[in-house]
Amino acid sequence: MKCRAIAVIAFFLLAPSSCKNETPPEITRAPRAEVALDPPAFGTRVILLGTGTPNPDPDCSGPAVAVVVGKEAYLVDLGAGVVRRAAAAYLNGVDALNPERITRAFITHLHSDHTLGYPDFIFTPWVIGRDRPMDVYGPPGLQHMTDKIIEAWKLDINVREEGNQPNRLQGYNVNVHEISPGEIYRDGNVRVSAFAVRHGAWKHAYGYRFDTSDRSVVISGDTSPVESVVTACNGCDVLVHEVYSTAGLNARPIDWQAYHKAAHTSSVELAKIANRAKPKLLVLYHQLKWGMTEESILAEVRSRYNGEVVYGRDLDVL
Ligand SMILES: [Zn+2]
Ligand SMILES: [Zn+2]
Repeated sequence: MKCRAIAVIAFFLLAPSSCKNETPPEITRAPRAEVALDPPAFGTRVILLGTGTPNPDPDCSGPAVAVVVGKEAYLVDLGAGVVRRAAAAYLNGVDALNPERITRAFITHLHSDHTLGYPDFIFTPWVIGRDRPMDVYGPPGLQHMTDKIIEAWKLDINVREEGNQPNRLQGYNVNVHEISPGEIYRDGNVRVSAFAVRHGAWKHAYGYRFDTSDRSVVISGDTSPVESVVTACNGCDVLVHEVYSTAGLNARPIDWQAYHKAAHTSSVELAKIANRAKPKLLVLYHQLKWGMTEESILAEVRSRYNGEVVYGRDLDVL
């Protein structure tokens, strides 16, 4: 897989603090996160900032994907940990993911696992120096959520603005764009289109297609199998699609099985979708494993799909 980067997840295991005069505790540290860059340096890249789900897997941040075009980044979803994963990519050479510079995000739907990083995205880069407002696109309800986040952190905003903290710019402001399917954004780098998907009881849930000068990228968000993904991809370069383990579903309680079938896409169903969507590269993310392995989920897809497919991991560059 020439485009596949190896994700190395960094975490720190700190020994408990010691009393005076005792031998200092031993500190064990894992290697720093590394991002392998894929040449050409300024082509369109897809960087998986988070491949997780609501399940708190320490190796998988909440769902967030960055489409990077030259020096600009376009985020899809803001799961927990998004700013720190962006910082990891930036420290490893992806300038566009300098947290201070990211000002655009596209939300697929308002489930908590896809938006828990929204306050982080609003406030953390502001505190370290972002002085421009953000533009955030997403389904109806996004304005309400944004207003409530700003309100919830009002004391923090007041203290930072009225105290002696040097940075008093208005970099936490958000221009919210509540969208409906169709072309929703265009600039010199990219054209972004939203398409409706079917995600359980959600009235508004979207996937996104990005068209740049050199690539087309489709991101499913959370969805059960839908024709709109096939239509949106239609031979696209990269299809990033959610998936759950077909074998793992059988171990779930009956009521949860019904929920997952209505809200998500099994590995077998995804193979059928991919056979018709014909992406040049299929990337699995938001994987609901339920105790199954990466290899078994890949095998389930490959048993019915012969195209190129990778199991996405945090900080993969594709
Ligand atoms: Zn989700
Ligand atoms: Zn969801």
